[in-house]
Amino acid sequence: MLPDEAKKKLAALLGPRGYLDRPEDLSLYEYDGSVDKARPDIVVFPRSTEDVVAIVKIAKEHGVVVTGRGAGTGLSGGSIPREGGILVGFARMKRILEIDLENERAVVEPGVVNLDITLAVQNQGYFYAPDPSSQKACTMGGNVAENAGGPHTLAYGVTTNHVLGIEFVLPDGTVISTGGKELDAPGYDLTGLLTGSEGTMALVTKVVVRLMRKPELVKTLLAIYDSTDDCGQTVAEITARAITPVAVEMLDGVMLRMVEEATHAGFPMDAAAVLLIELEGVREIVEEQVEQVREVCLGCRAREFRVAKTAEERELLWKGRKNAFGAVGRVSPTYYVQDGVVPRTQIAPTLRKIAEVSRKYGLTISNIFHAGDGNMHPIILFNPRLPGDLEKARSAGEEILMYCISVGGSITGEHGVGMEKNELMNKLFSADTLNLIRNFKLLFDPDNRLNPGKVLPTGKGCLEIRQPALSGASQIY
Ligand SMILES: Cc1cc2nc3c(=O)[nH]c(=O)nc-3n(C[C@H](O)[C@H](O)[C@H](O)COP(=O)(O)OP(=O)(O)OC[C@H]3O[C@@H](n4cnc5c(N)ncnc54)[C@H](O)[C@@H]3O)c2cc1C
Repeated sequence: MLPDEAKKKLAALLGPRGYLDRPEDLSLYEYDGSVDKARPDIVVFPRSTEDVVAIVKIAKEHGVVVTGRGAGTGLSGGSIPREGGILVGFARMKRILEIDLENERAVVEPGVVNLDITLAVQNQGYFYAPDPSSQKACTMGGNVAENAGGPHTLAYGVTTNHVLGIEFVLPDGTVISTGGKELDAPGYDLTGLLTGSEGTMALVTKVVVRLMRKPELVKTLLAIYDSTDDCGQTVAEITARAITPVAVEMLDGVMLRMVEEATHAGFPMDAAAVLLIELEGVREIVEEQVEQVREVCLGCRAREFRVAKTAEERELLWKGRKNAFGAVGRVSPTYYVQDGVVPRTQIAPTLRKIAEVSRKYGLTISNIFHAGDGNMHPIILFNPRLPGDLEKARSAGEEILMYCISVGGSITGEHGVGMEKNELMNKLFSADTLNLIRNFKLLFDPDNRLNPGKVLPTGKGCLEIRQPALSGASQIY
């Protein structure tokens, strides 16, 4: 429970339109894109770094926990205020502060939506490379916290490769700036440490990003298969031939049918799987690579190989891919997205394992994922109104992730650990490694008041964590 005194101070700081505390408003902030829930005691909307400093100082004075929130599109419960307290929404800090094309940099506030950076510079021939499929909604604060990836990060790298500097506020109100427009700051890489720290170390208030020049030629290809094994094999084969597309996305048959019904992008309704492949670069090289990829796909028994002829055709194929989660929403009341990673050579066996898990739990599981990175996103369809269905979906998800670990992979490629997978961290890391991570967290947040109950194992189940009357600092597990 938030002490009245703290609420009065926050209200005076931010004004009547700067916070929400009515139950019907708070209920909109108790979830993200994952399956868990917990309600904040108040949601506050700072306009500046100074506001963020004042908020965390009030929280510290009253021993209240604080969680940052961007657009709430996270898929691991990162912005769910697991122990209540203050939720800091960055929706009003959404200015692009500077565009410096000469140096190929931009400086943005954390509430800026990912795609808005590209929209601001594309007419000058530039773009911001990391492109999560949620890029029309997700914010740069959330991207930095989760070290977000996307289809095109196969060639360009993930958020950490494009964030050169950060301004952040520690839970005691100290403001720190790391990095900047230059390429490599001396000393320890604090920018790198903060990128991917899932909002557990500091609140990000400014981000310096790299801008990229648009390529001369882009080609989008669609390879269609009657077997998921052949489709998976193609991904390993493309890499073995040292061809590096900018994107290699795989959609299985279940997903294809849902996507085609929703978008009419021209995906085949009867295929077992397709690969959506994109090549970019200098004209002559790209044209040569299209032929090399065609040879690999047909050699791996693709039944058809298409090259998008116009920009409209390309956009339609990508629309199908990027709106896929919405398409699932048309056929299932809800779904649970997983985020395991496997070596590329393990894609085909992992798809077989996912099919086995689907049969075992009696749940439909569709697959759409960044195949080039081996980053699998099985989507488990379930009905939360059916008793036991959510538990079955959780168990199915965990079984898939354990399989990913067993074949040399990991439990998250880009969605983060959050409160969804923190109990699995000790399957991946030794006690000593987890202690080191814990010590880093405590260096930034000694009272464990920033986004507690995330990333590190708590030893508790999701439902045990929320303590209704908790307002003080929580135990660090
Ligand atoms: C349809 C769909 C497709 C997706 N596709 C992809 C994809 O291709 N690749 C990918 O990587 N992810 C993807 N995601 C997941 C999600 O969009 C990303 O994790 C994204 O980075 C979250 O951004 P957000 O603004 O919604 O953050 P939120 O969900 O609000 O928060 C995420 C985390 O960031 C922290 N946070 C937010 N703002 C700040 C701040 N200013 N300072 C410190 N911490 C902060 C929160 O505390 C939380 O831990 C997808 C999600 C959906 C729903």
